[in-house]
Amino acid sequence: MYQVILYYKFSPIEEVERFCKYHKNFCNELGIKGRIYISGEGINGTAAGTPEQIEVYKNYLRSLEGFEDTEFKEDECEFIPFAKLICKIREEIVSIHQEGVDPKEGGRHLQPNEWRDVMESGEDYVMIDVRNNYESKVGHFKGAVLPDLKNFYDFPEWLKTADIPKNKKVLMYCTGGIRCEKFSVLMKEEGWEDVNQLHGGILNYAKKEGGEHFEGKCFVFDDRLIVPVNPKALEPIARCEITGKPADTYVNCANMQCNKLFVCSEEGAHIMEGCCSEECKQSEYRRPFDPENAFKPFRKWYNYFGDDFKQRAV
Ligand SMILES: [Zn+2]
Repeated sequence: MYQVILYYKFSPIEEVERFCKYHKNFCNELGIKGRIYISGEGINGTAAGTPEQIEVYKNYLRSLEGFEDTEFKEDECEFIPFAKLICKIREEIVSIHQEGVDPKEGGRHLQPNEWRDVMESGEDYVMIDVRNNYESKVGHFKGAVLPDLKNFYDFPEWLKTADIPKNKKVLMYCTGGIRCEKFSVLMKEEGWEDVNQLHGGILNYAKKEGGEHFEGKCFVFDDRLIVPVNPKALEPIARCEITGKPADTYVNCANMQCNKLFVCSEEGAHIMEGCCSEECKQSEYRRPFDPENAFKPFRKWYNYFGDDFKQRAV
C-alpha cells in the first residue's frame, strides 16, 4: 500500500529558485512522485510513495525553517496516482490573481467537529463551495452554493454578483483548505465579517467526521480523480454527460484540441469513442479511444473498494 499526501504551508521563502532546486533534487533522490508548487509565499503539494518514503519527506519538509508545523492530509492507495514528479516555481501557490491577499488575515478555521456542529445547529448561514464546477458536480456538502466556475481565479469576479448579505454568517470549504486561505481574506476585505473556513478541507473532514452531510465524492488532483468521503453515501450524484445515467467517473475528451475533463461512464465513452460531443468526434485531432487506459485509474480504484462499489459507481 502506498501513501498519498496533500499539504500546503504559507511561509515566506527567500531564495525561491534555490529552495525549489534543492526540494526537487531531494524528492527525486527519495523517489516520490507528485506535484509540488513553490513560490515566495510558501509551498503547496500532493505526493505519493511508500510509507517509509513519505515519512522521510514529511520529516524533511518539517526540518526546514518556517515549515515545522506543516499539516499533512494522508490517504492510502494501492498504486502511485502520479506518473512523475513535478516540482516547480509558480507566482502563487494557489492562484487567485489578486494583489495583497495575505492568508494571515483569513477567516476563522473551523475544525471538522465545529463545522458539523454549525451545520446541525439550525443557525442561518451561507455555505460556499470554493472549488471549480467539475469538482463540485460529483460531490459537495448539502445546501452549499456551487458557483459554476472553471477556475479558482474566477471567484473574486463571481463574488461581486453573488448577492450574499454582508451580515450573513459565511462558511466556505475546498478540497484541502488552501483555496479558502485566500478566498476568506478577500471576503473579509470586501466587508463580510463572520467568515469561517473548514480546516483541512473535505479530506480532513472525511477522516475526522466520516463525511457526514457530504453527498457524492471528492475530486482530487491525481490519477484517482475521485475519492469517497461519506461511506454511507457512495452513490454517484452526477450524471454521465453522454448517457445521462448516474456516474462519477471522468475522461478527458479524446479530441486533443478540446481535452475537456467531463463526467462520463464507460458506456458513454464507448458510444462517443471518448469524445465529449459529436463535433469533437468528427475532429481530425482525435486520438484513438483506448477504454483500457481511459478507465484504468478507476478500475484500480474500484478494486480497492470492491465489486459492490464498482457496480454502483459505473
Ligand atoms: Zn470535446
